[in-house]
Amino acid sequence: MNKRDYYEVLGVSKGASQDEIKRAFRKLAKKYHPDVSKEPDAEVKFKEAQEAYAVLSDETKRAQYDQYGHAAFDSMNGGAGFDFSGFDFSDIFDGLFGSGFGGFSGFGRRGSRSDAKDGNDRLMRINLSFDEAVFGTKKKIKIDVNDECEKCNGKGGFGSHSCKTCHGKGVVTREQRTILGAFMSQTTCPDCHGKGTSFDKICTSCHGDGTVRKNKELEVKVPAGVDNGSRLRLAGKGDSGINGGADGDLYLEFMVKDHPLFIRDDYDIYLELPITVTDAVLGCKKEIPTLYGNVKLNIPAGSQNGDKHRIKDRGVSHINSSTKGDMYVVLNIVIPTKIDKKQKKMFEELATTNLKTNDFKLIDSYLEN
Ligand SMILES: [Zn+2]
Ligand SMILES: [Zn+2]
Repeated sequence: MNKRDYYEVLGVSKGASQDEIKRAFRKLAKKYHPDVSKEPDAEVKFKEAQEAYAVLSDETKRAQYDQYGHAAFDSMNGGAGFDFSGFDFSDIFDGLFGSGFGGFSGFGRRGSRSDAKDGNDRLMRINLSFDEAVFGTKKKIKIDVNDECEKCNGKGGFGSHSCKTCHGKGVVTREQRTILGAFMSQTTCPDCHGKGTSFDKICTSCHGDGTVRKNKELEVKVPAGVDNGSRLRLAGKGDSGINGGADGDLYLEFMVKDHPLFIRDDYDIYLELPITVTDAVLGCKKEIPTLYGNVKLNIPAGSQNGDKHRIKDRGVSHINSSTKGDMYVVLNIVIPTKIDKKQKKMFEELATTNLKTNDFKLIDSYLEN
């Protein structure tokens, strides 16, 4: 069996601190926990991360692993690697999934956890050239996002203890005496704002918010075929969730510049082709530029203005597919506004011949009466 390296599984370096290891595992647990994850292989990924964390978070086991690799635990568990079934993950999962996540809600707390906050989705507009949209590209983007404060792990402070004002209840009860008698009223605790806990020390990095502004640089692969106004969703790249809240998504909206020659309609490409009156009458062969190099197009004798020629599969690729749209060449028969003497003579000569088709019959019959 080919097992992945535990450090690789958690995405940390060999020299990672316990704090980094814990943070990396929390991130993965949040992403892959089978109760909440929508990823297809969540359960496998989750187990893999659990196992890696169980070993690397224990200095003794970590040392064994550093020395012998997976072989350090194989003999103990019939070759299946480290057995982590007895490991206590509760301090990791506590608060990771907000309220309603079974089993790890802790004790002495109120039923609902108000400190888990999902990160916001973000929208960013990206300019693309016509070709970048058609053929795809890579873009480096910079965005300021709210990131979980690393100093306090998004908690906002250190030394969390039950709020003295409300005794951890999050609400305070006051007795109001009026002429009608005594009333008991409940209001949100003014000291802990309903959380039930307060800190010995507020985090100086995030000033208690749990998030810090961070400029992130991302390399984004723009797939071939995106169009003006298309949106690409980058899961989890928006503002970070804090205290176990889900990370927001980043949406990229594309603004695509026009092409000087080609007009795009969804996945089809239109090209207006000017041709001379003689080419239209006599027919001709024309070289046509397409997105994928030039092609020869046969224009039959007697072509009409606006005639449309389809060139199959010369349009834009559908996103994440090999299917392509088509290209349409639309004829624009251009009547010359200036002609030389010789041309004029030839047109005059031509005018003495009968060029009338059936199209003229109806109007001519009206004129005869
Ligand atoms: Zn309080
Ligand atoms: Zn902080």
